[in-house]
Amino acid sequence: MIKKLLLALIAVATVFTGFAQKIQSPQEFLGYKPGEQFTTHYRIVEYYKYIASVSKNVKLQQFGTTNEGRPLLAMFIASDENIGRMEEIRHNNMKLAGIESGAGSTSMPVVTWLSFNVHGNEPASSEASMWTLYDLVDPANKTTKAWLKNMLVVIDPCLNPDGRDRYVNFYNSVHGIAPDPSPTAREHVEPWPGGRVNHYYFDLNRDWAWQQQKETQARVGLYNQWLPQVHVDYHEQGYNAPYYFAPAAEPYHKDITQWQRQFQVTIGKNNAKYFDQNGWMYFTRYEFDLLYPSYGDTYPLYNGSIGMTYEQGGISAGLAVVTRAGDTLTLVQRVAHHHSTSLSTLEVASANTQKLLEEYKKFFDNNRNNPPGEYKTYVIKNDNNGKVNALAKMLDRNGIQYGFGLSNKTATGFNYITQKTEQFDIGANDLVVNAYQPKAVLLHVLLEPKTFIPDSATYDITAWSLPYAYGLKAYGVKESFKPASAKWGVLDPAPLTNTHAYAYVSAWQSVNDVKFLAALLKKKIKVRYAEKAFEVGGKQFTAGSLIIARAGNDYPDFDQVVTQTAASLNQEITALSTGFVDKGSDFGSDAVRVIHQPKVLLVAGEGVNSEAMGEVWHLFEAQIGYPVSLVKYQDLGRTKLSDFDVAIFPDGRYDDLMSEKLQNWVRDGGKLIAMENAVSSLVDKKGILLKRKEDKKDDKDKDKEKDKPVKLYGDRERSAISSSIPGAIFKLKLDNTHPLGFGLPDYYYSLKLNDDIYDLFGDDEGWNVGTLKKDGYVSGFVGSESKKKINNGLLLGVQSMGRGSVIYLVDDPLFRSFWENGKLLFSNAVFMVGQ
Ligand SMILES: [Zn+2]
Repeated sequence: MIKKLLLALIAVATVFTGFAQKIQSPQEFLGYKPGEQFTTHYRIVEYYKYIASVSKNVKLQQFGTTNEGRPLLAMFIASDENIGRMEEIRHNNMKLAGIESGAGSTSMPVVTWLSFNVHGNEPASSEASMWTLYDLVDPANKTTKAWLKNMLVVIDPCLNPDGRDRYVNFYNSVHGIAPDPSPTAREHVEPWPGGRVNHYYFDLNRDWAWQQQKETQARVGLYNQWLPQVHVDYHEQGYNAPYYFAPAAEPYHKDITQWQRQFQVTIGKNNAKYFDQNGWMYFTRYEFDLLYPSYGDTYPLYNGSIGMTYEQGGISAGLAVVTRAGDTLTLVQRVAHHHSTSLSTLEVASANTQKLLEEYKKFFDNNRNNPPGEYKTYVIKNDNNGKVNALAKMLDRNGIQYGFGLSNKTATGFNYITQKTEQFDIGANDLVVNAYQPKAVLLHVLLEPKTFIPDSATYDITAWSLPYAYGLKAYGVKESFKPASAKWGVLDPAPLTNTHAYAYVSAWQSVNDVKFLAALLKKKIKVRYAEKAFEVGGKQFTAGSLIIARAGNDYPDFDQVVTQTAASLNQEITALSTGFVDKGSDFGSDAVRVIHQPKVLLVAGEGVNSEAMGEVWHLFEAQIGYPVSLVKYQDLGRTKLSDFDVAIFPDGRYDDLMSEKLQNWVRDGGKLIAMENAVSSLVDKKGILLKRKEDKKDDKDKDKEKDKPVKLYGDRERSAISSSIPGAIFKLKLDNTHPLGFGLPDYYYSLKLNDDIYDLFGDDEGWNVGTLKKDGYVSGFVGSESKKKINNGLLLGVQSMGRGSVIYLVDDPLFRSFWENGKLLFSNAVFMVGQ
């Protein structure tokens, strides 16, 4: 009995003394060595919670939740002295950046932020994060203790938990007792859509600046409250490549400072030191460039940090795989490499605290006093409240300051649309952004009309200027103007005076208008649209404007439903007491059509580009709130198509797209929307009149070809570039009298990702809604061969077929969901065309 009591006492004593001394490693906690198994997300969360419960040097924050309900976590790790000063350290960063008033100190701890596993099927890094965390909190670890004296570390263990679990659950469910290293084994072939992307199939490492996804909104929201000095984004690349770390490849955006470039080299050399010691292979300065602003390296760089991407070879490698070099690559090795660069980066950051903070301060001082770029003021004309509000929200999320109006001011500036310098008036509701502000570099990168590209080989799109992406009229002004009202946030709609109307009218020119329509349709309210522009009571409405008349909506609470729906969406509506218009067609005329609530089918599954499909899915569910049925392409044969009015085929490879069944459905009144490669899959199919534009080379070109020097093997990358378009902006001529162009001006900015272009329809074949002329190029890199090809052709078209129609959208109008301009165009295809 006494013996038992004694044992119990010893056990209690162990628990108490253990609190200060012994902390379990990931191996002790999970029961296996890092990399011996894949850890599901909830177990990673458990380990982080465990550390938070036993270590006094950490604070765990849940800053968000994924679409599938998994927690998003940030672990803050600091020394005994600093853990209680976290808010002070954070405020100091804000002061150094000039975001908060007061002088910041450059003698404070540096903040280093490590972001793991943004791509779900690049899973080694989350495993490495636990090991790194353990090293930082292990009381016996003197090295990391020394680093933490002047450094606060933030670890985000997994940026994309939904994607990670999709991959890990797949892998764990298909491998045998021992992993099969044969590359063709099924455990190395992920099923559609794969774990890279989040729930809506968005690539979260393309979303930092746009923040269209809930994970990004939560994370970048937190990030911008801290603005760390060093940030690493952990990835994996194809498993035949070894390890990539900074310094990055060209091109660099020219706003990236000398210091940022130089410190990438300092960190890279330290990483290399450990890789050399261990005999591990690696490369630097290749493939991963620093241009597109929505990555986990560029976004931090444009926000004053040393932003870097690290890539371990390992996608699809499972627990073990045989590489092209004949070696067996294991998860254990992959985890060890990420762990090594984590520690190496922390070591360099802590050794350079003072310099990092001084340069950080200098970056923001320069932003406020000497912003980059020739324009010191950007003016966005407000002829579209919905779109201006959408842009304002995005600027808010990025901490870019703006205001509205400048009373009776006439200015001279670069007109983004005409590309000429012109005089213009600034109105009270125009959005005005002054460049002298803490986020000047980010502002410049997002708004400059043309991105300077020192080298054409880049990993991503080369044009994204927001006025084009949003389709807004904008001016770049060389003088510095401050807005009249420094008010941030969106503009409120004008209040409604009449709440018992003959009809309510809403504009049709932004996503918010579409959201309003969707909400009304779901409430069974009959909505009409005007085929032509009209004027009533001194107000002008464009074609496509929504008319919600009392006629046909014979409900006692009609007014209430319409006005409350509008109020809940911050939607401006006009109440009219008459259907007798001053100009245009009266509401009872044939030119005012009823919008029949469409039942929408979206094609998904193997062969479909999951990200392109996800953009459509997300638009319906998360942005406009309208139901959509997802059906696999392979299951269309047994789907009752007559249940649907609209079928959307996103980018993808479709072998026999125009089956007889589908064609009959269109002829019976169905509407088929084909996007990107779905368009090319339709060419030459029965009933399809669209023809690919042939390369017509004239004799001069042929002569030139004869004189061309022999192609060198060493130049093969260059010659591939001549026919490449990584993503460039073109201005199309838009027929906005056609329902596909409703609510848009007579031009449309399209982001071209390839050189596909089609012949114009003949008069009785179809409608040439969006066409490209010779002078349509606006911005971004286009290879010389492609440049010759892309002109005088069709990019947006509509063809009637029986009682139905086929809509051709050759480019992606919903690109990464930041191409705001295309959302209305796409909504026109769904709700307006063929009514
Ligand atoms: Zn990646």
